[in-house]
Amino acid sequence: MILDDILKILKKRLSDKAYTLDNESYSYKQLYKFVCNIYHFLLKENKEKRPVVVYGHKEIYMKASFIACSLAGMTYIPIDESIPNSRVEQIIKQVNPLLSIGKNISKEKIYEIMNEENYSEIHNIYLKPDDIYYIIFTSGSTGVPKGVKVTYKNLDSCIEWLKNITKIDKGVIINQANFSFDLSVADLYLSLVSQSEHFIISNDTMLDFNKIFEQLNKSNANFMVATPSFVDLLLLDKSFNSKLMPNLHTILFCGEKLLKTTVNKLYSRFNDIKIINSYGPTECTFAVTSYEINNYMDNDENIPVGVTKKDVNIYIIDENRNVVEEGKIGEILITGESVSDGYLGDIQKSSFIQYDGVKAYLTGDLGYIKNGVLYYKERKDKQIKFKGYRIELTDIENNIRKLNYIDKVIAVANKNKDNKVINIVAFVILKENINKSELEIRYDLKKKIPEYMCPKIKIVSSFPLNNNGKCDEKKLLEEF
Ligand code: AMP
Repeated sequence: MILDDILKILKKRLSDKAYTLDNESYSYKQLYKFVCNIYHFLLKENKEKRPVVVYGHKEIYMKASFIACSLAGMTYIPIDESIPNSRVEQIIKQVNPLLSIGKNISKEKIYEIMNEENYSEIHNIYLKPDDIYYIIFTSGSTGVPKGVKVTYKNLDSCIEWLKNITKIDKGVIINQANFSFDLSVADLYLSLVSQSEHFIISNDTMLDFNKIFEQLNKSNANFMVATPSFVDLLLLDKSFNSKLMPNLHTILFCGEKLLKTTVNKLYSRFNDIKIINSYGPTECTFAVTSYEINNYMDNDENIPVGVTKKDVNIYIIDENRNVVEEGKIGEILITGESVSDGYLGDIQKSSFIQYDGVKAYLTGDLGYIKNGVLYYKERKDKQIKFKGYRIELTDIENNIRKLNYIDKVIAVANKNKDNKVINIVAFVILKENINKSELEIRYDLKKKIPEYMCPKIKIVSSFPLNNNGKCDEKKLLEEF
């Protein structure tokens, strides 16, 4: 399984680059030392093998800790430091860890531990196939993030499949996403099993277009895992082309709808680029379908999300959970090796169901199958993707409701003709005699939810109603 492969590669102690962040690179040999030191520290200090929180950004100790936790038989929970403290506390409360690397084990302490020169080897891998490998927290409709428990078997199946469809070997892989998002799982583990360099774009770099381009150029990368939103952003600049990244040969997309305009622009800027579209929710371990696009898209059809990985089945079902005819739209239901162990605690168990006697995940995504290939249509609920981030609009609403001066709130996603969210607006009604500005509300909200979830705020005195007596969201947006 992948941990055997990873340990074997680390033990070669290669001087090849394993990890590069902001002009600093670490070799496989150094990474092995870091992992060994953290592994032995964890075995000593966390004898009950309680889950370990790994808090920070994209520093090398994050990746070294993930590997060390897994080898030591402990589940890790990655938390990015851009998440506001109150939300981090909500996660920590649910996990109840003994050790939180980057928190109760400070960054200074973990660097001290991992840099110890006289380290002991790793002889045992403690994680079992059904153990939980990691828990990734995602937006929860109640206003509290929910943890998805992914097993070692789930991850092993995902990475084996990704190795097959990408064929990457000893390359340079660009990382875009924070480690607390499951998009990063692909580059985190593909880089290790393919003995590649993991080239990291940090949050700081992300804020500066010039810096991003400088890093992309420096990376010499041949492989990129990205959301369409991120690549669309890069494509805004004409210099994002094969001169900037002469070796780039594959982009693996996941997380949101890939548009033909994105594909066609990429073909016009990069010769012979391989574009892979993939689809899947965090609850099914990164992705479950893939589709390789080989040429310009010139028909009116949607880009498929693809063919299902071998150990997974996809059904398109109606409201009564009966399979619909081929070509008809219904909800996408997933069964098989990628379906995770469910959520931490007993929240929203209803989306993990039994189907035909096996465990299944009801995605909430609408789609259809044509000639054995899956197409994504849209969501059936209030979950959206904004700039590549998964957001429950009710998560935003419930956090706004927690502000004690708010009477009513409704969050609405403003979409363009391609059904892509261009912004989120929260319409609020203040309690009587409250004097707060839209800016002040946003400021208070930022203490509760991450920046990417914070909507534009619009104070209104009432909500317009439609014929059914419900809030008329369209009208609200028109008046915005
Ligand atoms: P996440 O858990 O953040 O990976 O988000 C999962 C959701 O993103 C899915 O349930 C879909 O709604 C959406 N999604 C993922 N991949 C694609 C894709 N290739 N095309 C369209 N939507 C996607």
